[in-house]
Amino acid sequence: MIRHKKTDLLELPRSALRNNAWLAERMHILHQAHFSDVQIRNKLFVRFGRKSRGRFGSIIAYPEPDYILPVTYITINGLFRDPGVPEYVIEGTLLHEFAHYTHGFHSPHPRRYEHPHKGNVVNKEIIARGGGDILKHQKKWIKEDYKKYLQFRGML
Ligand SMILES: [Zn+2]
Repeated sequence: MIRHKKTDLLELPRSALRNNAWLAERMHILHQAHFSDVQIRNKLFVRFGRKSRGRFGSIIAYPEPDYILPVTYITINGLFRDPGVPEYVIEGTLLHEFAHYTHGFHSPHPRRYEHPHKGNVVNKEIIARGGGDILKHQKKWIKEDYKKYLQFRGML
């Protein structure tokens, strides 16, 4: 559960701006709420990428100078910077990518499955960790509103 501080109103204009810092804060909150037992063992960056119709997020790790372990990058569809996209769509995407991290894909954790998606392991993991409502809302928006949204944005 996200706690609201007294300073919320003052902070609103800044937090309404969806930049990489905002995204990192969402990830931090989701990590605390749903994955607090999963240690972040390497450097993990969360960032917006290019705009895409079909790809909501991705996770990759590769070696970088100055880091002992490969660095993990979670990239979120650049379209989602737009406040017209509900926050739960971004949250569902962050949960999805972090479930991969938990399962040892592009992370230092032991690999738990042979294939990242087979057997619906990502959704099962998120639901088991109390993120099912976020996924439900996300799925509903994608099904009912995403096409209209893309048309409005001139991407369809
Ligand atoms: Zn995936």
